[in-house]
Amino acid sequence: MRLLLVEDDRMIGESLRGALRLEGHAVDWVRDTSAAQATLASERFDLVLLDLGLPATSGQPTDPAAGLAVLRALRARHDATPVIVLTARDGPGDKVGGLDAGADDYLVKPFELDELAARIRAIQRRVAGRAEPVLSHAGVTLDPATRQVTRDGVPVLLSAREFAVLEALMQRPGALLSRAQLEDRLYGWGEEIESNAVSVYIHQLRRKLGADFIQNLRGVGYFVGERPRAS
Ligand code: CA
Repeated sequence: MRLLLVEDDRMIGESLRGALRLEGHAVDWVRDTSAAQATLASERFDLVLLDLGLPATSGQPTDPAAGLAVLRALRARHDATPVIVLTARDGPGDKVGGLDAGADDYLVKPFELDELAARIRAIQRRVAGRAEPVLSHAGVTLDPATRQVTRDGVPVLLSAREFAVLEALMQRPGALLSRAQLEDRLYGWGEEIESNAVSVYIHQLRRKLGADFIQNLRGVGYFVGERPRAS
């Protein structure tokens, strides 16, 4: 998934970004409300992790409710991007305030990375309209929690980025994902994109899962499952 992390604490930000990249997510990181507003107004993300206490711009004092203002502005634009609020505060009023402002979920720092990862997966399922946690198609299963993939019941070993490409495609069988959309899910800002990376990952996945498992519409994109109808 492509995630936006809004967090002014450098240590927390670096450790979260590192951990989420290891999970195969593309993570972009901003540290103040003005950067968060500008980024959310111009780019699309699958999920936002939003700290509440933030400075307006770097070097300014922290406003404990600044994150809520970012969230309200997002929802006021009818932007439904899922948001998990992250905060050190644990008063019951803060949780209610965050959820009422349009957050999808809430985590109080310090939290376990495993719990954050599980909540991200739950939101992914909800967004995709699935109740069942394991993705399954044509003899291939993918479990986002254990990161296990099987083909005809036999475990298949994938790299983190191969897994991310497969997960993106299996989340919505029949949906076309362009090369650029797949690159977005693989790379955050500042990460160099190898020009043929997506083709290489697709090639590896076909080798491991069967040549026909991932299909492509030439020049348009990749999909699993039913061929998408021309629009
Ligand atoms: Ca903060």
